[in-house]
Amino acid sequence: MDRVEAFYKRIPSYCATNGLIKVPRDKFPDMMVGISLWGGGEDEKVLRGKDTFSVSSKNYEGDPYTYYLYTITPKQVGKIEPVVKRIADVGLKVHLQLLSNDEGVDGFFWKPEELRDLRFEMDEMLDQYPRTVISCKYYHEIITTGKMMGRSFGWRECPSVTESLDNRQPPVKRLIHFYRWAADLKSVHRCCTSATRDCSTCKDGAAHMSWVMVNKHDHMNSTKDLQNWIEVYEMFAKLYRLIPW
Ligand code: SF4
Repeated sequence: MDRVEAFYKRIPSYCATNGLIKVPRDKFPDMMVGISLWGGGEDEKVLRGKDTFSVSSKNYEGDPYTYYLYTITPKQVGKIEPVVKRIADVGLKVHLQLLSNDEGVDGFFWKPEELRDLRFEMDEMLDQYPRTVISCKYYHEIITTGKMMGRSFGWRECPSVTESLDNRQPPVKRLIHFYRWAADLKSVHRCCTSATRDCSTCKDGAAHMSWVMVNKHDHMNSTKDLQNWIEVYEMFAKLYRLIPW
């Protein structure tokens, strides 16, 4: 907790956790807490050896500054509603993102038809649970197709690359002077994900949101495009506690 406190003093924003230990709210009254979740109880047992939701939901039930960061795997397509309902029932929020199969585990690679079905399932969740799901349909489109304005997401376009390691030419658009510091606080990693992840299959949610945000001018051609851009910005701002839910 000392390290969380040191971080919170400088950057009073967000803490990612598995939710098994409760962040003391007297010390961190409004720190945004993002709890990792890997599906329903049975999926969590397979993937993490334990149904962590049963513990984390007791720790954080009704907490106004907590959401679940639900990583959807190909095996959960068609099964996400009960997970979202469980979260709604304990008065918390959820942000949906997709698994990048970094370990190359069999059965966890995305097939195009799964991504297509998932996009519509995510849309349905947003329609059905608008006060629980922090998202927008344009984000669902971008993250499942990996396309924006006819361009493909990947190394060439990604805004979440550590600045000092970024030798791309011409330089890409940036949201901030991005740096991913290692735990020793001296070395840096390539980007916001593991240093070895394959950019062509990367599904990182924050990197996709940033990709939309840095490309504001490309979203100025129609009301719908601008609306889409604002909605992605809005969901990002909510998730990092820059604006209220
Ligand atoms: S792995 Fe993802 S976040 Fe990292 S540089 Fe590649 S596309 Fe960007």
